Amino acid sequence: MALMRSMLLAASQSVWLREHAVKFPFVRRSVSRFMPGESLGEALAAARALHSKNIGSVFTHLGENVSDRNEARKVTEHYLEVLDRIHESNLPTEVSVKLTQLGLDVSPELCFENLMQIIRRELPSATVWVDMEASNYVDATLNLYKNTLKNHPNTGLCLQSYLRRTQKDLADLLPLRPAIRLVKGAYKERPEIAFPKKKDVDENYFVLAQELMRAQSAGGCARAAFGTHDVALIRRLADLAGQKGYPKSIFEVQMLYGIQRAEQERLAREGYRSIVLVAYGSYWYPWYVRRLAERPANLWFVLRNVFAS
Ligand SMILES: Cc1cc2nc3c(=O)[nH]c(=O)nc-3n(C[C@H](O)[C@H](O)[C@H](O)COP(=O)(O)OP(=O)(O)OC[C@H]3O[C@@H](n4cnc5c(N)ncnc54)[C@H](O)[C@@H]3O)c2cc1C
Repeated sequence: MALMRSMLLAASQSVWLREHAVKFPFVRRSVSRFMPGESLGEALAAARALHSKNIGSVFTHLGENVSDRNEARKVTEHYLEVLDRIHESNLPTEVSVKLTQLGLDVSPELCFENLMQIIRRELPSATVWVDMEASNYVDATLNLYKNTLKNHPNTGLCLQSYLRRTQKDLADLLPLRPAIRLVKGAYKERPEIAFPKKKDVDENYFVLAQELMRAQSAGGCARAAFGTHDVALIRRLADLAGQKGYPKSIFEVQMLYGIQRAEQERLAREGYRSIVLVAYGSYWYPWYVRRLAERPANLWFVLRNVFAS
């Protein structure tokens, strides 16, 4: 499994595969399990359907590592339009952005300006989420996030439990009253940087999640969102939260579109805050292959699609 995960993560970075694999109809059919479509209209329709089940949503426009100012500007303008459409639709939908898509590789200043435009367009009651990318971007992402928080508390950051450094990063952030989405981590990292064993990643997740809940109860964390499909872990955390008298309405779980749907609905039905991240756009190849790496059994689904009519 570890070898398969490593091979898939390497494949997610292949430019050749990105350009060729996306043309095969069976690959396009397989990806539809994880995204409602490539267009914003399709994402909005999915958000409406989720809302009817009391499930919130977060939109992310797929893409990463933009190396050109104009391209970063276009992505920013797209997100401004997305926010306008969300506000017109009265949907409880937020956005999550990748800083490399907003020009981080071009210049941190440009990226900050673009991020600020998006945050200014968002309602103060909603959060603009910032994804965490590969480990070489963590310092720059944390710096930008800390600068943003000074004037805009409605900004949230993703932290990854596979990174050895995350416990310290969280401790540094808590005095600033951040909003945190905790995930396990999706990139290929060296063992000096990230725990190589899944058991350690899961245990670190549990430790960090407890820290977040403690901080949230004490008013030191604006929002704590658990970005995971690990049902056993969610139940372990929910039990602990219940024992500590943590209200269900602030116990927040975020999952990806199409994964663990029954659990997303169960959480919403039982009064927890259930949110689904809806990805859309044409640049889905690396994102999709990271989803395959998370659960190599998904490859069977791809293979089944080879033979589907
Ligand atoms: C809302 C959200 C935002 C995220 N943002 C980021 C980010 O900014 N940066 C980042 O590095 N990572 C991000 N991720 C991805 C994350 O890091 C993990 O790679 C991913 O969530 C898989 O880990 P898991 O916690 O679900 O647990 P795992 O232990 O990997 O999986 C638990 C169970 O969930 C199910 N499952 C998990 N993944 C899949 C899948 N792809 N297909 C089908 N079933 C699956 C399986 O049943 C599996 O047994 C995000 C994830 C979510 C849910």
